[in-house]
Amino acid sequence: MQAEIIAVGTEILLGQITNTNSTHIAQGLAELGIDSYYQTVVGDNPKRLAAVLEIAAQRNDLVILSGGLGPTKDDLTKQTLAKYLNVPLVEDAAAMQVITDRFEQTGKVMTENNRLQALYPKGATPLTNHNGLAVGAFYQSPDSADFLLLPGPPREMTKMFDTEAKPKLQAAYGQQAQIYSRVLRFFGIGESRLVTELQAMIASQHDVTIAPYAKTNEVTLRLSAQADTQRAADSALDAVEQKIKAKVGDYFYGYGDDNSLAQVVVQAMIKANLSITAAESLTAGEFQSTIGGVAGVSAIFPGGFVTYANAAKHQLVNVPQTVIDQDGVVSEAAAIAMADGARVRLGTDTALSFTGVAGPDSLEGQPAGTVWIGLAYRDQPTVGKLYHFVGDRQKIRQRSVMVGLDLLRH
Ligand code: ATP
Ligand code: MG
Repeated sequence: MQAEIIAVGTEILLGQITNTNSTHIAQGLAELGIDSYYQTVVGDNPKRLAAVLEIAAQRNDLVILSGGLGPTKDDLTKQTLAKYLNVPLVEDAAAMQVITDRFEQTGKVMTENNRLQALYPKGATPLTNHNGLAVGAFYQSPDSADFLLLPGPPREMTKMFDTEAKPKLQAAYGQQAQIYSRVLRFFGIGESRLVTELQAMIASQHDVTIAPYAKTNEVTLRLSAQADTQRAADSALDAVEQKIKAKVGDYFYGYGDDNSLAQVVVQAMIKANLSITAAESLTAGEFQSTIGGVAGVSAIFPGGFVTYANAAKHQLVNVPQTVIDQDGVVSEAAAIAMADGARVRLGTDTALSFTGVAGPDSLEGQPAGTVWIGLAYRDQPTVGKLYHFVGDRQKIRQRSVMVGLDLLRH
């Protein structure tokens, strides 16, 4: 079952409005298991619309049109479709009644073109418009493609599509095999390396497709399988997921489109009731701001420290003056002292510290991108880890926050 969605309207071609109708319809088709093969946009021009109809009817089982059902001169979609199908337009009595009632209520004079809104191609099933006056139509043809006509205004279109059209499509075609997807999230491995590791698998996959997406500082893989039931899809997806994890499982941290590393890490800490604080120099609070974005973090995050200047490192988290003087603030000793100091000050189970060179200039003779992250756990020796990140100031700071979160995961 293949479908094409055609949005009719010159204002879409001109970029004056966004084509949200096609998005909504495509999502609905996916739910019905009907494959969307094409999306077309065409202006309010009967000649070009007729040409588009011709092509769409040839290459699809179902063609869905939105826009141009109104009463004005540029609304020509159903006239053009009727001509293409070689059928006349006929009046939907119920819709006509609604239109005449509306005019009587408002006391306005009905002009002839308003009748147009109650017309639909003969042989079609008219579709009620609950949010407007123009009727839609579902035209089933034994020997060519079927057509669905929907109004342009999104409020009218979505209501008609969801409540009137979808049940009729389902009755006509039955539930088709659906596409089920699962998103795996990775951190600490770049997209190119991930794809290289999985190259042979990606190439040899038949029933499950594997699509990588690079995001800021992380990579996701979308696995998709076509199946009749969620259960059948799950077993195909599970098998592929296991194979992927056997290769790059160390970098896997979670599922889903919106589950960021912060979300996953903080939720795990909340569950384990592990409290955390931080002393941040180069990230200047960005780590704390990031974990602050996760709902429920207050249960484990009492607060923390932004210790930019040397004096603040000393005053707020007790970094000894000797460390500052002898080791410098971009050092393992400083990272450890900051993490320890922060943890002890607030009595948390764990603490992170960030100190380094965000750039563009070097600091203490060390190049931009040199970053120490300290990690303190109660009753364990505190460690400092050295990183060399590349990129501009923002990138280095963001990367530091992500790596800090990742350290808490292990
Ligand atoms: P009307 O009776 O209001 O004239 P219509 O069915 O003739 O409706 P159009 O005239 O094509 O539809 O569009 C009406 C309005 O609906 C447009 O101005 C636009 O704001 C919105 N619209 C049309 N098509 C789309 C689309 N594909 N995506 C989002 N909005 C759309
Ligand atoms: Mg219109």
